[in-house]
Amino acid sequence: MATIIDGKALAKKVNAQTQERVAKLKKQNITPGIAVVLAGDDPASLIYTRNKHKKAIKLGINSILKKFPADVSQEELLTEIDRLNNDDSIDAILVQQPLPAQIDPEVITSAILPEKDVDGLNPLNLGKLYANQRGNYPVACTPRGIMRMLTEYGVNLEGQNAVIVGRSILVGKPLLALLNNANATVTMAGSKTVNLPSLTCSADILIVATGTPSLVKKTDVKLGAVVIDVGINRLINGKLVGDVDFENVKERAKAITPVPGGVGPMTIATLMEQTVDLAQWRHHG
Ligand code: NDP
Repeated sequence: MATIIDGKALAKKVNAQTQERVAKLKKQNITPGIAVVLAGDDPASLIYTRNKHKKAIKLGINSILKKFPADVSQEELLTEIDRLNNDDSIDAILVQQPLPAQIDPEVITSAILPEKDVDGLNPLNLGKLYANQRGNYPVACTPRGIMRMLTEYGVNLEGQNAVIVGRSILVGKPLLALLNNANATVTMAGSKTVNLPSLTCSADILIVATGTPSLVKKTDVKLGAVVIDVGINRLINGKLVGDVDFENVKERAKAITPVPGGVGPMTIATLMEQTVDLAQWRHHG
């Protein structure tokens, strides 16, 4: 029976550390600030942005939530980003994705000042990550949170086979770089991958981020693997599930994240942690 990787408990620990850091910064007259920008009325995005905003306030971080209608123009969004880039009270800018069809996400993420790019999606920050550069720069929050989980649960990465299913810029690609930088041997799969199960069965560490419920079944997993399920899927009966058949895979894995209560809470906790990092780097270098 697998160890259940408790993302909720770990997020609580990270949030407590963040709250302490915020209190210390406030004593130096620095209040970390985040701006969350939402365009459109996607129901899941509405919930995510509201949760991020509420969590920031709870931890003592200044948070502003900027909402735009679904027909907002790219120019309007760019004007807002420019304003936030120049707003000294804002350390972190997050533009919630997916964006309405008329907006090019690459243009938006490139417009965010790299020093305020809390999602780590600006090409400069992504490039630094891929080059494994030293120094301080933000990294996409879900992958960074996953790395923290693996560390906290003592998962050895060096020389291990890591397989990532899903190659988005938000999850799969930054994770590939992080795992590779940690000396894992990484393979990344997508929807065109032929014979996915043969690949997933070779994984000592299997990370799944596709948005496909029950994509990974018990027979797709190596005995004793560590399984990280990033997927969030709402079934028609209202139940929230991941991309992994949790109940059966936990019989075969050494450790596994549940959905809900796994990667999700760690993503928000990492976002808050990284907001404070950005404030600290901006004020103290
Ligand atoms: P995207 O839709 O951007 O990317 C999905 C990726 O999965 C693509 O690379 C796609 O391949 C691949 N894929 C889809 N179906 C299959 C399949 N049958 N076999 C193999 N690969 C497949 O999604 P995101 O990365 O943004 O999110 C993925 C999931 O993670 C979603 O459920 C999302 O809600 C969740 N999520 C959860 C977070 C959390 O904090 N827990 C944070 C971010 C996302 P291809 O490139 O070939 O099209």
